Amino acid sequence: QAKQNGRNNYRFFTKAMQETLARNIQLTNALRHALEKDELHVVYQPQVDISDAHIIGAEALLRWNHPELGAISPAEFIPLAEESGLILPIGEWVLRTAVTQAKMWIDSGFPPIIVAVNLSAVQFRHPHLPELVTTILEEVGLPPEYLELELTEAVAMHDPKSAYAIMDNLHDRGIRMSIDDFGTGYSSLSYLKKFKVYKLKIDQSFIRDISTDPEDKAIVNAVISMAHSLGLKAIAEGVETVEQLKYLREQGCDEVQGYYFSKPLSPESFTEFITAQVTKRID
Ligand code: C2E
Ligand code: MG
Ligand code: MG
Ligand code: MG
Repeated sequence: QAKQNGRNNYRFFTKAMQETLARNIQLTNALRHALEKDELHVVYQPQVDISDAHIIGAEALLRWNHPELGAISPAEFIPLAEESGLILPIGEWVLRTAVTQAKMWIDSGFPPIIVAVNLSAVQFRHPHLPELVTTILEEVGLPPEYLELELTEAVAMHDPKSAYAIMDNLHDRGIRMSIDDFGTGYSSLSYLKKFKVYKLKIDQSFIRDISTDPEDKAIVNAVISMAHSLGLKAIAEGVETVEQLKYLREQGCDEVQGYYFSKPLSPESFTEFITAQVTKRID
């Protein structure tokens, strides 16, 4: 009987695996042509100062609309892009798109907005990354201080010594870096101290239950004080409620990002969002 169940489980498991595999192959093949077919676009989520909610940044987030399958989540297609190497041309396109957008916002006379772009492990480790970023900035004419590169804690800590050298190189070129999904990895303080980053992004999993969960509170408080003692800013991701916002403000968190303020927006909607804010401040 046990054997029978085992066999059924095994069969069931392989069927699910086969389906995932087939979908992954389908998506990877489609992703090869997604850029040229104009199926990719970038949306921007406001990052605001916690004290007065003024916009200081925008995180660029990639979106893919597959003609038959509809919207595919980056959580599903980014790993496939990484495994297939497609993340290099796609990531370069995201970078150029976001840098061009930042330049347009500056040229429209808006208060400074720093555009944050997510970097995958493959991009970060690519030997030409620092040069590529500088080239794009120069081509577009964006001063480097308007760009921030987000690197997850897991990627940074995977090989901290080489990460340290790459960050140094980017820093020397005037490019800012932040550590994304902070708290989910195993950061060693001694490396964190050497990383040339200016912001820690507290992972949204710690924010969700922050109003009620004492452990999440403790982690968030620790990350904020650690950031400040290292001279870094702390930003909370995934802020959805006023309670979360209040708690983070009490703890001295510097910035917030999340649905409470805004979902990721098309460039046009983001422009309207800033325009409304600037107009309100002048009134
Ligand atoms: P991330 O960089 O940590 O981005 C934050 C994610 O949280 C985004 O999901 C965003 O839409 C979502 N989010 C923001 N505010 C809230 C909130 O209040 N509540 C909830 N529940 N979620 C919120 P998204 O856009 O689906 O992206 C998922 C992940 O995919 C990103 O996590 C990032 O790791 C990756 N990703 C997205 N775009 C790119 C890209 O251009 N390049 C690379 N390498 N990775 C990307
Ligand atoms: Mg991010
Ligand atoms: Mg994150
Ligand atoms: Mg994440």
